[in-house]
Amino acid sequence: TTRIVLASRPQGEPTPANFRIEQAVLPDPGGGQVLLENVYLSLDPYMRGRMDEGRSYAAPVAIGAVMDGGTVARVIASRHPGFAEGDWVLAHAGWQTHALVDGASLRRKLDPAVAPVSTALGVYGMPGFTAYAGLHEIGKPQAGETLVVAAASGPVGATVGQIAKLRGARVVGIAGGAAKCAHVAGELGFDVALDHRAPDFAERLRAAVPDGIDVYFENVGGAVFEAVLPLLNDFARVPVCGLVAHYNERGRPPGPDRLPELMALILSRHLTVRGFIQRDFPALYPAFLADMGRWLAAGAIAYREDVIHGLEQAPAGLIGLLAGRNFGKLLVKLV
Ligand code: NDP
Repeated sequence: TTRIVLASRPQGEPTPANFRIEQAVLPDPGGGQVLLENVYLSLDPYMRGRMDEGRSYAAPVAIGAVMDGGTVARVIASRHPGFAEGDWVLAHAGWQTHALVDGASLRRKLDPAVAPVSTALGVYGMPGFTAYAGLHEIGKPQAGETLVVAAASGPVGATVGQIAKLRGARVVGIAGGAAKCAHVAGELGFDVALDHRAPDFAERLRAAVPDGIDVYFENVGGAVFEAVLPLLNDFARVPVCGLVAHYNERGRPPGPDRLPELMALILSRHLTVRGFIQRDFPALYPAFLADMGRWLAAGAIAYREDVIHGLEQAPAGLIGLLAGRNFGKLLVKLV
């Protein structure tokens, strides 16, 4: 197998020197094990967190260990009764071309007739489920309410906005640049798309939400959150899903401490601000698969993938993802 390991921990933005490519020889599968060929590797913002030490919701990747990651793989040899050569599976097999895993650890088998297998890493997998669960459990958009979401052309944001539209909400998407905004307002069918890099972004956002904001699905933090805060309605819900604007930051930003102001707003506007990790809601996963399967088959949910080729491109892909250079669900095609 060819694999990419964490060579060193980044200081701020990751660089190619934080990664190292290696070769290794895999043993034959033992009892219960399955040998996989990874076909797609998912690149996701959470991977930046795994590169750091310290307490988080998941353990860091150790120096010298293979980078973590979800994959769509083909079974090339199996000593597990549930899997046969040629099966497509959703795995967490990391940044490598091949992997030996316990069959019991495999997340699910994939049927290419139901949806393209790559979607198991995007709209029909973890990011899509994140959108579904965050809305179902926390955001709860109602017909006629206004929902705002950033990173709107990515797999989480795109799905959030489209599910909220299906629920009858008015949806404002925020994305970086004209091409992404055109996609968000066009193919994805959001009511409004706004470029967070526009110098007058905060005023444009205010104008786009004449009735205020009832649900802010928090994907980014930073300047977008600052523009959203004063526009939140009483009893607004804020599922805190991700803060990608901050993942490369080192230490606290300069400037006055505005935490008391934030807490006062949470109190006086009766806000529900709740962090979540999609794995908090395993009981909801079957309903997600059923609903999303139906929506995809009916063409009710659109999705966009951004596919780069070759394992050696993965570090640059992740660095670019954190800076908004991907356009859609970022995947590395390995075969
Ligand atoms: P995306 O494919 O949308 O990639 C991240 C995007 O974030 C970039 O493309 C960029 O888009 C945007 N971005 C980066 N920096 C900034 C910034 N400073 N201000 C505004 N936008 C910025 O990623 P995903 O859809 O996979 O993930 C979206 C969020 O959801 C992330 O925060 C991620 O960590 C989180 N997440 C949380 C999960 C959970 O269980 N809680 C599970 C999965 C994801 P643009 O060019 O439009 O700015």
